[in-house]
Amino acid sequence: MFDKLLIANRGEIALRIQKAARGLGIKTVCVYSQADAEAPYLETADETICIGPGAARNSYLNADAIVLAALQTGAGAIHPGYGFLSENARFADVIADAGLVFVGPSADCIRTMGDKVEAKRAMIAAGVPCVPGPDSALPQDVTAIAAIADEIGYPVILKAAGGGGGRGMRVVRSREHIAEAVALTREEAQRFFNNPEIYIEKFLENPRHVEIQVICDSHGNALWLGDRDCSMQRRHQKVIEEAPAPGIDRALIAEVGERCANACRQIGYVGAGTFEFLFEDGQFYFIEMNTRVQVEHPVTELVTGLDIVTMQLQAARGEAFTVQQGDVETRGHAIECRINAEDPFTFSPSPGTITEVVAPNGEGIRLDTHIRAGYTIPSQYDSMVAKLIVHGADRADALQRMRKALSDFRIGGITTNIPLQAELMNEPGFAKGGINIHHLEHWLAERA
Ligand code: ADP
Repeated sequence: MFDKLLIANRGEIALRIQKAARGLGIKTVCVYSQADAEAPYLETADETICIGPGAARNSYLNADAIVLAALQTGAGAIHPGYGFLSENARFADVIADAGLVFVGPSADCIRTMGDKVEAKRAMIAAGVPCVPGPDSALPQDVTAIAAIADEIGYPVILKAAGGGGGRGMRVVRSREHIAEAVALTREEAQRFFNNPEIYIEKFLENPRHVEIQVICDSHGNALWLGDRDCSMQRRHQKVIEEAPAPGIDRALIAEVGERCANACRQIGYVGAGTFEFLFEDGQFYFIEMNTRVQVEHPVTELVTGLDIVTMQLQAARGEAFTVQQGDVETRGHAIECRINAEDPFTFSPSPGTITEVVAPNGEGIRLDTHIRAGYTIPSQYDSMVAKLIVHGADRADALQRMRKALSDFRIGGITTNIPLQAELMNEPGFAKGGINIHHLEHWLAERA
C-alpha cells in the first residue's frame, strides 16, 4: 500500500495519472527534465523534482535518477506512463530492488513479452491465435530457413526477436531473396537491439490493426475490456483510434478477449496491457503485447465507463477489483484523434509557443491535454499535444461529434494536424469503417 506516487513521465499522460491518483487520495510527485521546467502540469502535482537535462536519455530514460527521486521524496510507487521506461524490465527490477512498487506487471512478464519469440510461444500455449510461422527463432542454416519459408508460403516477414518501434523487420517476397534478407535483418537486430535472434512469419498484405485491452489485479482477476481499431496509421504511428472495431462479429471478439484474459492468468500478469492483433479475412493474428497503458486507452474508458489508470493504481496497491467480467459492457462508440504539433500534410514538426487554446466542449467530448496559452512546446520530445476523444450513441453519432469538436478546436501560435483530422472525418473509407493499415498512406499519396 502506498500513498505517494511518483510519475515517471511527461505531457498529457503525466496529467492523466495525476488525476487518477488524486481520485484515490494518493499524493503525486512529478519528475521533469530541464526542458519541461515550465510545464503546466507541474503546478498541480503535490511535489516536483528535476531529474536531469532535456535529452531523454539523461532524464526520462535515467532509471537510477528516477528511483533516487522516489526515495528522496518518499514516494512508495512509480507509474511509468507510456513510452520512455514503461516497458523496460530492468527499470521494474531497479524499482523492486529499491523496495518500491512498479505500477505494472512483474519484470519477468515484461521480459517475456519484450522478446517476441517468447511472447509468441506463450500466446500459442494460451490458445491466442498467432500469425502462421514457427514459435522459435530461425536456425543458422540457410537451406533450413528456405524450407521453413517455403512451408509458410511467400510473402513472409523476418522480425527481430528483440525488436520494437517498427524497426528490424523485412518483408521477403520470393525464395531468391531470403538468404540476403536473413543476413541483413540479423545484422540490424544485433545493431539496434543487441540481440541477433530473428524469427519468421507469414506477411499479411492488407490487415487491420485491432487490439484487446486487458486489466488484471494481483488476485487472479483478469478482465478484458473490449477492443479498439487503430488501423489509421502513418509510418506505424497511430493517428486515429476507435472502440469498438467496426464491422467485426462481437462473438469473435469475445472469444479472442477471453483467450487474452486467459493468457494473462497463465503468465501471472498484473496491471494494464494490450494484445495487438492484425485482423484479415475474418481472423485474428497476435503480433505483440504492450505491457503498459496505451495512448488510446480513453476510447475504451468512454465505452466501458471504467477508469483504466485508476484500476492500474488499485492493482498496484494490491486491491482486488470489484468489477467482474460480467459487469463489463460496452456502450456506444468512441473515437480518438491524436493532435500533433506538426504540419497536417508534410508532417514537419512545429514546436513553438502556444498563443491561444479554444477547447471544444459539450456532451460526449473529452480532451486530454497538458497545453495552454503561453506554453512553449519543447522540441526534444514527441509532437503529440492533445488527444481529442468523443463518445456517441453509435459510430455515425461519434463521427458527427468529432467533426463538430474538431471545427471548434483552436490552437494558436503553432501548426497542428487538426485540418488533417477534419478531412479524415469526412473521408469516405474511414466514414464507412473497416479500413486497413495502409489506407492513410495510400490516401495521402493520392491527395498529394
Ligand atoms: P513493433 O514492436 O516494432 O511495433 P510489431 O510486431 O508490432 O512491431 O509490428 C509493427 C507493424 O509491422 C505492425 O503494426 C504491422 O503494420 C507490421 N507487421 C508486423 N508483423 C506483420 C505481419 N506478419 N504481416 C504484416 N504486417 C506485419
